[in-house]
Amino acid sequence: MKLDAEVTALKGVGPRQAERLHKLGLQRVRDVLFHLPLRYQDRTRVVPIGSLLPGQEGVIEGEIQASDVKFGSRRSLLCRLNDGTGSIMLRFFHFSGAQRAYLQKGVRLRCYGAVRRGPAMLEMVHPEYQNIEAEAEIEDCLTPIYPSTDGVQQRSLRQLTDQALALLETEAVEELLPQALLADFELPTLAEALRYVHRPPPHAPVELLLDGEHPTQQRLAFEELLAHHLSLRQLRLRAQHLSAPPLPTGGELQEAFLEQLPFELTAAQARVLAEIGQDLAQTHPMQRLVQGDVGSGKTAVAAAAVLCAVDGGYQAALMAPTELLAEQHYRNFSVWFEALGLKIVWLAGKQGAAERRQALADLASGEAALAVGTHALFQDDVEFHNLGLVVVDEQHRFGVHQRLALRDKGRQGQQAPHQLIMTATPIPRTLAMTAYADLDTSIIDELPPGRTPVETVVLQDTRRAEVVQRVRDACVSGRQAYWVCTLIEESEALQCEAAEATAELLKGALPELKVGLVHGRMKSAEKEAVMTAFKARDYDLLVATTVIEVGVDVPNASLMIIENAERLGLAQLHQLRGRVGRGCAKSSCVLMYHKPLSQQGRQRLAIMRETNDGFEIARRDLELRGPGEVLGTRQSGLLRLKVADLGRDQALIPDVSRAAEQLLRQWPQRAPALIERWLGDKQHYGAV
Ligand code: ADP
Ligand code: MG
Repeated sequence: MKLDAEVTALKGVGPRQAERLHKLGLQRVRDVLFHLPLRYQDRTRVVPIGSLLPGQEGVIEGEIQASDVKFGSRRSLLCRLNDGTGSIMLRFFHFSGAQRAYLQKGVRLRCYGAVRRGPAMLEMVHPEYQNIEAEAEIEDCLTPIYPSTDGVQQRSLRQLTDQALALLETEAVEELLPQALLADFELPTLAEALRYVHRPPPHAPVELLLDGEHPTQQRLAFEELLAHHLSLRQLRLRAQHLSAPPLPTGGELQEAFLEQLPFELTAAQARVLAEIGQDLAQTHPMQRLVQGDVGSGKTAVAAAAVLCAVDGGYQAALMAPTELLAEQHYRNFSVWFEALGLKIVWLAGKQGAAERRQALADLASGEAALAVGTHALFQDDVEFHNLGLVVVDEQHRFGVHQRLALRDKGRQGQQAPHQLIMTATPIPRTLAMTAYADLDTSIIDELPPGRTPVETVVLQDTRRAEVVQRVRDACVSGRQAYWVCTLIEESEALQCEAAEATAELLKGALPELKVGLVHGRMKSAEKEAVMTAFKARDYDLLVATTVIEVGVDVPNASLMIIENAERLGLAQLHQLRGRVGRGCAKSSCVLMYHKPLSQQGRQRLAIMRETNDGFEIARRDLELRGPGEVLGTRQSGLLRLKVADLGRDQALIPDVSRAAEQLLRQWPQRAPALIERWLGDKQHYGAV
């Protein structure tokens, strides 16, 4: 057998099992070697019951002191186990007559399971158990737990890795890191690392391994991060070989636009615009990410960039993640562009056929200088006359996959448009080095002058009447307010119904106010009409679902109420709160929560109360949730790192980036093999 033989060459793998293994990405024997333990169980030592903590997993031994079937809301078999240091309850919701007869007072058991808090004392629910007298041997090394799928037992994964590891004795796995790099970064060899992580020897440092911080694990994480990094660099290099039209900065239209703006750009906006200008002057496509906190004024920068394209005789496209935000951009840009005598078209999912046909015709002929819309902009039937620049607003809502897929749009042979990507989700630097290694980044690190920080209060929803009074006071004194209804687990339909019901209640409670309503199920013309009316102060209070989360800009609105705020994530809360505090008036945000509060929910609300700084919030979010969630890549499956963990292994990233440079300089032929090994067929998207 060879490492590149099909998995069916392994003992115990028939066609059915092979199919299941394929689902795990295991095609060849070699893949089994790289199917690495997700974690380990420590069955090497018996833990005194008295020292157990909730959340811990471990082996315990003791004697059953009492055994009883309880009939509560769920029938369960409860056995109290004691080892002289303390007691724990074993709880079984499913049990056979034989089990019940066996688990009697006086029986001595060894159990393995996870510890949690129970009503009376700590519990293990459905622990694995065995009679101590019968099998007294305890494991002498950590037990690896592999990522698995239905029908594939941990035991068979262990047998398969045993066979693959045995092959390593006779056939070497290809070491892709050059000797010099291994020495420089003090890394063990690949074969050493693989053997160790699959089968940690007896007396291995358990804590390090359980935390993923053993040098052999770090060696593999290093190689994996390096592969991802190289893949993104490659993507970026490829783009640099494409050609793009050089576009001028400071042209006639851009000058006229900046002059007509009612404000001066902040120093940060001007700096970022200059960085964009330098990229646009090149003959290869710009790929720039602009990070700027909510309210930092990204739109004006985007508009000025769009006008570089138009000044150069090219078209531009501006894409936003929601119809509501796209509509708002469309309205703003319409005002600006009409003043400059330019034509702009609208493209969205829900749109009349005639309107759409006209828009498509104007884009194809070059009549229209700019198209604004949702991802409908990039459907196959949309053709541009000469697209020079694509702007993606609030890209964090699109996910990495869509961003990368977008690159191929608007491309004709070796010609590609410039790309400007904007996000209000600040990304910590080391994370950005990995996740956005293919982009140049600019940061708008300054808010326009005259803003006062939003004051945030957290209240239980039993104090609703006070909150309603607060809305009344604000609106009577000429300000406007938002009331946001959230229901994230439920369907959008339910969320819209809840908003409708809340709007009715608030109309009743606040008869002196004009109350508007906007939600995701309204037609886009209706939504637009409501938003325009709110902006024109025809409404005092706008009841909304989270559709207003991004981009909505009504500077006179200075009070925001968020219902069930405990259900929303930090990024979403920060975005929502960013809808107020845009004018000069002192603004506030009321986060209303419904009990019971989870630990994380409580922490999130506390963080929101403590700070308005998007970077700080992102940092804390990263701590609470981990980078996969923060970057929104977990669901899309693109950040499926096998060993590395962007949170834990952030410290490796600067080294990884140095190693990538060295490797590309001295051993460029190794790069494709590394990418293939760790990313396989996902490499097209750069994977991170
Ligand atoms: P975001 O970065 O969240 O997209 P916007 O572009 O919507 O922010 O800008 C927020 C608000 O700040 C808008 O009302 C905009 O007109 C205003 N604004 C932008 N730049 C400046 C500036 N330099 N001075 C004053 N107000 C500005
Ligand atoms: Mg914006």
